[in-house]
Amino acid sequence: MATLCWNHYQHLEIYFGVPSFGGVLHTLNLRLSPDDLEYIVNHAEDKVMMVDQVLLPLFDKFKSKINIKHIIVIPNAGQPVPEGMLNYEDVIASGDEKNYIPFEGDENTAAAMCYTSGTTGKPKGVLYSHRSIVLHSMVSAYAEGLSLLESDVVLPVVPMFHVNAWGLPFTCTMIGCTMVFPGPYLDPPSLLELFEKEKVTITAGVPTIWLGILNVLDTHPGKYNLSSLRTMIVGGSAAPRSMIKSFQERYGLRILHAWGMTETSPVGSIGVLNSEIQSLDKEVQYDYRAKQGVPSAFVEIRGRNENGFIPWDGITMGELEVRGPWIASAYYNTTEQEDKFTSDGWFRSGDIVTIDEKGYIEIKDRSKDVIKSGGEWISSVALEGALMGHPAVAEAAVFAIPHEKWAERPMACVVLKEDNAVTDEELLAFLAPQFAKFQLPDVIKFVKEIPKTSVGKFKKSVLREEYKNYSN
Ligand code: ADP
Repeated sequence: MATLCWNHYQHLEIYFGVPSFGGVLHTLNLRLSPDDLEYIVNHAEDKVMMVDQVLLPLFDKFKSKINIKHIIVIPNAGQPVPEGMLNYEDVIASGDEKNYIPFEGDENTAAAMCYTSGTTGKPKGVLYSHRSIVLHSMVSAYAEGLSLLESDVVLPVVPMFHVNAWGLPFTCTMIGCTMVFPGPYLDPPSLLELFEKEKVTITAGVPTIWLGILNVLDTHPGKYNLSSLRTMIVGGSAAPRSMIKSFQERYGLRILHAWGMTETSPVGSIGVLNSEIQSLDKEVQYDYRAKQGVPSAFVEIRGRNENGFIPWDGITMGELEVRGPWIASAYYNTTEQEDKFTSDGWFRSGDIVTIDEKGYIEIKDRSKDVIKSGGEWISSVALEGALMGHPAVAEAAVFAIPHEKWAERPMACVVLKEDNAVTDEELLAFLAPQFAKFQLPDVIKFVKEIPKTSVGKFKKSVLREEYKNYSN
């Protein structure tokens, strides 16, 4: 049963209503193209579509190419739903509890599914079982994880169509937290107003959201009262160290960095600091908080490169492999990309990492984004994090451009904060002490905005294509 919905309470009802009777909840990413949506609905063989009235124009673009039995519209207040479609509130009101037969089947039965956003090849489906969702919720919620309390007020900015809003609807319901949903209003001022009004204590989203929020806080000092907010969970792409430090020192706000992906339900590792690190110098603590953290309980990790498994020395890079009760062991109904799963049950993440002696993972890049210059690897993530540490820089994306001698060289696209100015030489001078000379970008280009993916990450494939002939 598919949903094409923003974050709202009806979506939460559906999150529980569908698996509770044995159905499979399939959340569709409303930022994908109609072609991708058509492919995904057909591949998943969805039979019911629950769609926000405001999203009917998008649904109309692929409706005729899919085979859906029932269309249920989550209505805009007071508006009639189109003919041939059911009104969600009427369907709920007409239900008779006496006819409800709760699902009591095998815990390994699928309860939900999501598709990857298909940055490499066709989108691929991942199934989550009742068991995996329960275990993921229990481990996410515990004190050394997200440390959720019943008294928490949680606002997931991360969409419910993006890896189940990182599991928060399930985890928060298990704990009994209050949840606040922003609907489609995801701009920084709307979110800040909602944080203040609803006394939100925990929120979660990708770094681009928090960079925008930080900018508004800096330009409107004292405007928002965020005294209730105790943790901002950040994942989906690397949280720059400078951002973590700025929120902490300027606003007393804690960023908790987590790593995961569609195939890992998604929480795979969380950047909690152990007591030893908490006793170290503050700057060292920030270094650790900028890493992606230690694996969650029951998640096993290892890294591998062409020489075999990497040592846990915090230096040697390799591809991260993970295994655990909520880590996928296959894609749904396809033989594509079977090589992502090893014969001994590990998932090959495609992320290039180091792992240190304490077990902290640091994502250096996705394997397709790493810049291979003269046989050396340059981490685009490290350069981006450093650039975004410059006070004039709002956003920075670093990617490879072809080079005759070195094969690839780094190029940076930089968006400046409003009313700020800096030259490329000044930025290079700012980077120089933090990197070896060969790692510095050959080109820094100032742009108005950086293209983003359907879930708010930098779309480096577009940048690589756009600048592939850039002379350097
Ligand atoms: P996609 O980005 O392909 O739409 P996912 O949402 O599943 O799909 O993204 C997973 C990827 O996001 C990971 O493989 C990793 O590269 C990146 N990622 C997630 N969390 C972090 C993080 N905290 N730091 C760096 N990269 C991250």
